[in-house]
Amino acid sequence: MPDISYGFIGLGNMGAPMCANLCAAGIVPCVFDAAGTAERAPAGTIVADDVAAVAQQDTVFLSLPDGRIVASVCDEILNAPGRTVSTVVDFSTTGPQAAGEIGAALAAGGITFVDAPVSGGRAGAIAGSVTVIASGPDEAVAALSAPFEAVGGNVFHVGVNPGQGQAVKLLNNFLSATAMAATSEAVQFGLGHGVAMETILDVVNVSTGQNTASADKFPKRVATESFDAGFAMALMTKDVALYFDEVQKSGSSNKVGTTMTGLWNAADGAMPGADFTEIYKYLRGDSDGETT
Ligand code: NAD
Repeated sequence: MPDISYGFIGLGNMGAPMCANLCAAGIVPCVFDAAGTAERAPAGTIVADDVAAVAQQDTVFLSLPDGRIVASVCDEILNAPGRTVSTVVDFSTTGPQAAGEIGAALAAGGITFVDAPVSGGRAGAIAGSVTVIASGPDEAVAALSAPFEAVGGNVFHVGVNPGQGQAVKLLNNFLSATAMAATSEAVQFGLGHGVAMETILDVVNVSTGQNTASADKFPKRVATESFDAGFAMALMTKDVALYFDEVQKSGSSNKVGTTMTGLWNAADGAMPGADFTEIYKYLRGDSDGETT
């Protein structure tokens, strides 16, 4: 492996376990999180005082809440005294427009940008099995094969332009959000007819209605009432809104997108701080007066 130094900024639900998997593969990053690095840094990582310290590495990974924060951290990297960063790799979900703008700003400062959003949730981040949806120059993506393999079960290079990875990530999350919401309503319909949730899931999961919510989120997070997928409803709502905006711009059909955007915005407004699986509770009518 070439002698490359790595940095990692954003040690939240996704970033901390992905960082731990980098370490396990012998890729030891210098890490920073604005909410407190020492308490979030996985064992073996090098704790940095600020973004400028991470900017003294060659390749820097980001896992941050949204495009506005990614742009601001990239600005800090660009303005870090004596920076040595040659490549920034963004694992966050920011949308194609933000990714394009961030890529252009970094390129103007001589830094290569690889847009690499991930899918698979916190469970996938812990297991080292997220899907990495990369877009960026061929040679830059090829040079990232070791870290991508360390965090990901499936690694795709979907295009050479920043934003193409985000487009695929957004359409994926729109499908995931739709499955979660539709399954919540459908299960409640079945419960209303006196059928147990476990029975409904047993039938659906070997039938044509099977989906990621019925197969995974419902048995693990909803039937147990644990609602602990580790993905904030606010972040899923952000992704659905980004998808909606991009579809509006592209002019393709947005009828389901319109319904989903309204639903997730309303649920997020009614349930601040909720996990995204709690859309089930919102549709059950648990939150203040907001019901189906
Ligand atoms: P999170 O809120 O748990 O983690 C984000 C981390 O970034 C926090 O620890 C926060 O303190 C840190 N941060 C915020 N601003 C910062 C700054 N200016 N400098 C340094 N650190 C800063 O979010 P998450 O769930 O880990 O998601 C991260 C990204 O990955 C988001 O874009 C999200 O949409 C995406 N994503 C999340 C999941 C999931 O299941 N949680 C799955 C796939 C993709």
